[in-house]
Amino acid sequence: MNNPPPTVGRPTWLEIDPQGVVANYRLAKQRVGASVAVYPVVKADGYGLGALPLSQALVKAGAKGLCVGLVEEGAQLRQGGISVPLVLFAGLTPGVERLIIDLDLTPFLYDLQTAHSLSREAVACKRQVPCYVKVNTGMGRIGFPPEQLATLLPTLQALPGLQLLGIVSHLACSDEGEEGRVTSTQIRQFNQALTLLKGENSRKYHHSLANSGGTLYHPDSHFDWVRPGIMLYGASPAFPHRNDQEEGLVSVVRWLSRVIQIRSFPAGTPLGYGHTFTTQKKSLIAQIPVGYGDGYARRLGNLAHVLIAGREAPVVGRVCMDLISVDVTDIPTVEVGSLVTLLGEDGTKRITIEDMARWLETIPYEVICALGKRVPRYHSRS
Ligand SMILES: *Cc1c(COP(=O)(O)O)cnc(C)c1O
Repeated sequence: MNNPPPTVGRPTWLEIDPQGVVANYRLAKQRVGASVAVYPVVKADGYGLGALPLSQALVKAGAKGLCVGLVEEGAQLRQGGISVPLVLFAGLTPGVERLIIDLDLTPFLYDLQTAHSLSREAVACKRQVPCYVKVNTGMGRIGFPPEQLATLLPTLQALPGLQLLGIVSHLACSDEGEEGRVTSTQIRQFNQALTLLKGENSRKYHHSLANSGGTLYHPDSHFDWVRPGIMLYGASPAFPHRNDQEEGLVSVVRWLSRVIQIRSFPAGTPLGYGHTFTTQKKSLIAQIPVGYGDGYARRLGNLAHVLIAGREAPVVGRVCMDLISVDVTDIPTVEVGSLVTLLGEDGTKRITIEDMARWLETIPYEVICALGKRVPRYHSRS
């Protein structure tokens, strides 16, 4: 990483590598082949890693469109100068129609009333709003019921001001690997939905079903464009069955800090809130300025470890809001100012997003989305 670490304030920061995200985007492109477009998903601030700088890198690398979750996220990218199509997943809620038009977003339609109000607004603004029709093929979330499509599609196509680009749906179980039976059923359902559009019009529609799991494991789900998210950020969608390295994904984030104090305690000393840890022998305990106020989850206390000088240092006692204590008794070179790796690699050791997900009994998605907003993010330049 070429960026200098922070020079003001406490030494805790995230180093994010946009070129790693680009490498993972290229892997997705390679998996789907030249005839399928890849629209990276940068919702939730790029899964917590910084939507704007990552979008800039992805567009520079050739991405012809991006996907966001909310209108606000689209606004942030437009304000940052991103001009490629921005697909809006679940953000078409009553009241945002005009904003969608002004920001030139491409919403998923999943509700007839809102489609009508978007159409009215588009006519009032004399605009054609590009949009996709979202159908439920098994996720059971916001898509239109497939049995309504036959009557619904002509209605939506007739709405003035709306330009239907294609049909989209979302996979519920793509993480289960190659032989997923739910996914095959969804693909079949999706193909059925597409027949309702065929023959209507010679215009080429642009359909999409696949997330990262579909992109990596289900070639039949690729259709015209895919929407990978988590894989771009270096984590396998098939956690816990597979890991990032098996997929050939590049890790893109390191969470770093520095030791701010080291104290020696005799054997038998209880430490921290609730005295949940007691030294078994004379111990060197280092303080690291990070805590649950930064998204370093409280339950990592007495469970996780960090890396210092290429060695593992266990987190002892409870995680505080601003501090954690780690046992550095076995790390002879540790000193105040030593680099601490909370996530990422240090020498031959590595704490992956998957490791963190295992500790927290969650999935990689939540690990990176939960990285605290208080922690400054530094994006390296290529
Ligand atoms: C979040 C999301 C994706 C990306 O999913 P990943 O599993 O992160 O690849 C794709 N499509 C929709 C509709 C989503 O909400």
